[in-house]
Amino acid sequence: MIVMKFGGSSVANAERIRHVAGIIQAYKDKLPVVVLSAMGDTTDHLLDAADMAVKGTVDIKKVEELHLATAKELDIEVPAIKELLEELKFLLTGISMLHELTKRTRDYLVSFGERMSVRMMAAYLSKQGTPAQFYDAWDIGMVSDSNYMSAELLDDVWTTIPQHLNGYKNGSDKKIPIVTGFIAKDKNGIITTLGRGGSDLSATMIGAAMQADEIQTWKDVDGILTTDPRVVSEAHPVPEVTYEEAQELAMFGAQVLHPRSMIPCRKTGTPVRVKNSYNIDSPGSIIVEKHSGERPLVTAITSVKNVALIDIQSSRMLGAAGFLAHVFNQFLKWNISVDVIATSEVSISLTVNGKVDLTGLIEDVKNVADITVKTNKAIVTIICDASRSSGILAKAFAALEKEGINVQMISQGASKVNISVIVDTAQVEKTVQVLHKALF
Ligand code: ADP
Ligand code: ASP
Ligand code: MG
Repeated sequence: MIVMKFGGSSVANAERIRHVAGIIQAYKDKLPVVVLSAMGDTTDHLLDAADMAVKGTVDIKKVEELHLATAKELDIEVPAIKELLEELKFLLTGISMLHELTKRTRDYLVSFGERMSVRMMAAYLSKQGTPAQFYDAWDIGMVSDSNYMSAELLDDVWTTIPQHLNGYKNGSDKKIPIVTGFIAKDKNGIITTLGRGGSDLSATMIGAAMQADEIQTWKDVDGILTTDPRVVSEAHPVPEVTYEEAQELAMFGAQVLHPRSMIPCRKTGTPVRVKNSYNIDSPGSIIVEKHSGERPLVTAITSVKNVALIDIQSSRMLGAAGFLAHVFNQFLKWNISVDVIATSEVSISLTVNGKVDLTGLIEDVKNVADITVKTNKAIVTIICDASRSSGILAKAFAALEKEGINVQMISQGASKVNISVIVDTAQVEKTVQVLHKALF
């Protein structure tokens, strides 16, 4: 058995759906479980429709037209999609009357994208003579906590998913399962989502729980690339990446994988292949536990914009125990998560998401230390063999200095697979370009 996940761009229109159906049919003998995202930009369009509804206007034209036109072009009848579109209109009308949108309602609303795309694909495959069955994630046991918009899957899924899919794996059920990515239900039966890009996590969870031979995530790029191709056009695919590297890459801003997607497959050692649905002959990238040959010096470069850089200094605490403990307790109290850190005995530099309100934290920290906050910073991360950091740093800093880019902080992750530097957001693209040129 394998899992095949197709992202939004892979199923963006009728032509793409036909193409993907062909890829699925080609893998039929491997018993694929298919995981789909919403078609194209449907999730964004649903979120836009929600914002408009809050202001009093109900308009789902874009979403409706795309799905009805696609069904028509594929020559399939999908009453189930029409029903969902009606339900969606009701929901938006409700939002427009209340002028209010909770996180819980937002999750219910965006769930329609994935629910429509699986119905479309199952109907099309069946019409083509390949029996397929669509499932909303909860119908195959996807249960999560109630942290709307960024829910965590519960450990129950390790048993509930096989309970629902073992029939397919052992051959008693012949229809190819087409499952919604991104969504789940909590224990109370309320719809949740796993965070933007969450279909990757749905796929790796199903693959790990089912002990699949392989998890494939099909995208619109030739695998995991050395950096974001929208920033550096020379970015090229990395043939082999470890789970750890892929995780750091995703956590430090590479959109290509959901930040938590490596957790389930890493537990079982299930290999993940990242493939291009627009270029099926390209080998893509494989994500595994350990490099098969020598570990490359540098794997990839990623970036996260709009972070805040916080400097905390206290000469009073020189030599006193508990300075770090005291400072981090304040972050815990205000529930502020820290990304990159560098410390000395009396000073700490760290970064947090630039959108977080820091007022309370600043007041509390001021009691023991001087604190300054600089906004509009960016983290640029080099995913590399950090045990050989001297050579990497020498090359990187020579190039940055030559281009006049000022690095405001540097940190080497404890996992020894990343080195992060902090620069101004205005310089982030240039920094990535300069580093890519110097290191690849
Ligand atoms: P999908 O919807 O199929 O999951 P995404 O749009 O979420 O696809 O992710 C793929 C996109 O991620 C690519 O089109 C590319 O623009 C972007 N990207 C950013 N960094 C990288 C990287 N290092 N490798 C590959 N793609 C990247
Ligand atoms: N459709 C969702 C999103 O756009 C989930 C995904 O594509 O993985 O974020
Ligand atoms: Mg994605």
